[in-house]
Amino acid sequence: MRPSPISATVDFDADGVQHGFLKLPVSHDESAWGAVMIPVTVVKNGEGPTALLTGGNHGDEYEGITALLKLARSLRAEEVSGRVIIVPMMNQPAAMAGRRTSPMDRGNLNRSFPGDPDGGPTKQIADYFTRYLVPMCDYALDLHSGGRTLDILPFAAAHRLEDRELERRSLQGAMDFGAGTAIMMYELDAAALYDTAVENQGKVLVTTELGGGGTSTPASMEISERGVRNFLIFAGITEGELQRPARQTFVEMPDASCYVQSEHAGLLEMTCALGGMVRQGEVVARILDMTRTGVDPVEYRAGRDGMVLARRFPARVDMGDTIVVIGEVVETLER
Ligand SMILES: [Zn+2]
Repeated sequence: MRPSPISATVDFDADGVQHGFLKLPVSHDESAWGAVMIPVTVVKNGEGPTALLTGGNHGDEYEGITALLKLARSLRAEEVSGRVIIVPMMNQPAAMAGRRTSPMDRGNLNRSFPGDPDGGPTKQIADYFTRYLVPMCDYALDLHSGGRTLDILPFAAAHRLEDRELERRSLQGAMDFGAGTAIMMYELDAAALYDTAVENQGKVLVTTELGGGGTSTPASMEISERGVRNFLIFAGITEGELQRPARQTFVEMPDASCYVQSEHAGLLEMTCALGGMVRQGEVVARILDMTRTGVDPVEYRAGRDGMVLARRFPARVDMGDTIVVIGEVVETLER
């Protein structure tokens, strides 16, 4: 495979704080010899582990982007033992457009791994992470949220892995992030995720969902900023005490029955609240026919007992949309 076309303007081996770019050459009508400029910050101080902190994997998930732009501005080299690499907007073209996917090639970065140096811009970004940045790191934290179409209870998550020790450390990282909820997550389609690319290299991967609706709130920002700081303590890169909420819930998503998905188009009426508990068979949403009056709404029911982890955010709903996600509460830990 040929080397990545992406080059970094920072020296990943140099001590101190550097702000620069990952430059992806793109030749287009407005700039014949142009480049996509993906901001990157490296904070390094001597020997120690490396954490790779990423946001904007999806361009409309602002909680992580905001938290990492603020961390990149504030993190000092003296605080660090080892190295922190911060990329607040992995899919920079998508983030600049305020969209989940890239306006350049319609690429969904988190469905583009391991990537391809000869693919479009989105696959080229994925490839650069897979072959250059992930190998440099020991711990990876990828900050997601619901974006414009989902609202999600803030949580940090790990995945079931064949390597049980890696699974244990990843779950510890999710607990230490301190979002209030930690999840052993079931993905509907894991093959091309960034998560999988990191885990396949034997690195700790913690993913998060930190709110949604294509915005941020004081509450979601408090969780996001605290979590990022906690993660660096978990990784042994900064010192300090973990700031975790007094109460943390551990939730499992064992299988696809967690997902309630729409088979109708229309107007969504939610009958359950984010963070609330539901019983199997309980009506969690209705879809109303908007094309005529006098029609009974269609009822959607929970496929299992559990906690409402996520919901569709816009009221207009189409066939195939995820309406509700339900997780099984395993235990609640009080401090
Ligand atoms: Zn996302």
